[in-house]
Amino acid sequence: MNETILPFGDKREAPFYGKDILSVSQFRRPDLDYIFAVAREMQGMVTRVGTFDLLKGKILANVFYEPSTRTSSSFTAAMERLGGSVIPINEVRYSSVSKGESLPDTVRTLERYADVIVLRHPDVGASALAAEYASKPIINAGDGIGEHPTQALLDLFTISEELGVIDGLTVTMVGDLKYGRTVHSLARLLTLFDVRINLVSPKILQMPPEIVKELQTAHTPHGEYSDLDKVIPSTDVLYITRVQKERFNNVEEYEAVKDAYVVTSATLQSAKQRMIVMHPLPRINEISGEVDSDPRAAYFRQMEYGMYVRMALLAMVLGKA
Ligand code: ASP
Repeated sequence: MNETILPFGDKREAPFYGKDILSVSQFRRPDLDYIFAVAREMQGMVTRVGTFDLLKGKILANVFYEPSTRTSSSFTAAMERLGGSVIPINEVRYSSVSKGESLPDTVRTLERYADVIVLRHPDVGASALAAEYASKPIINAGDGIGEHPTQALLDLFTISEELGVIDGLTVTMVGDLKYGRTVHSLARLLTLFDVRINLVSPKILQMPPEIVKELQTAHTPHGEYSDLDKVIPSTDVLYITRVQKERFNNVEEYEAVKDAYVVTSATLQSAKQRMIVMHPLPRINEISGEVDSDPRAAYFRQMEYGMYVRMALLAMVLGKA
């Protein structure tokens, strides 16, 4: 019998080998421990050598049907730091999508060239649909107002690295909780931990009832508020979101709520000394520039943690971690 010796053991035994990453619901706590351990190794390797050849010869198709700066470029950086290469499709206007090609046809084409597909799409469930047609792993990089699982993983990794623990914390989510897919995924993922979640938003941008129901079912203590100042003193993680203009049908409605919450240095005066301010970015007005120099402002560090988590995920689905 001809035995192949694989550098990292038998990849069929590697967790997540060949799997899609579509929703945070597919993760349990041991999975998170594993992903974070691999992400820490990636961080160590990047610090030591910058780029290495773990995924040499592998190709990622990075397909974005909605705008992106961080998710798209961090997946590219992650793949390139692992020695792999990337087919970037950022402007679907210039691809055959603009000729009317369906998503199933696009992914069935790209998987002939690439080993893994990262997909951002305006429709909820688009990644799940793509995964039905593709035999290569699909990674959901945001499906409309649905989920953004890799963002939630990097958010949780940020919390764990910055504060050292997750259990016992109070996480306050602020802003557009209705359309913000990052808070949908993060809230779901946090039900695996012993945390309290404060949901602060204008009435018309409250967290969707199905997610509040999931918090109830998981016995995650939570409360809905419109006044941010009330919950600031007990907050360990202040997670701010952008009001998502592109999701509104009515511009006046957007204008009425767009500046509902603006975090300034004054807002943080009553906050703990050991707490962090997070934001998936882009930021519009919801965190004033003066907060950037506060050591508690973790949002740019958060982006770097994201690259390590995405390196870990790519290595895992390709059977190299
Ligand atoms: N970048 C995040 C997302 O793609 C947040 C945002 O766009 O406001 O969901």
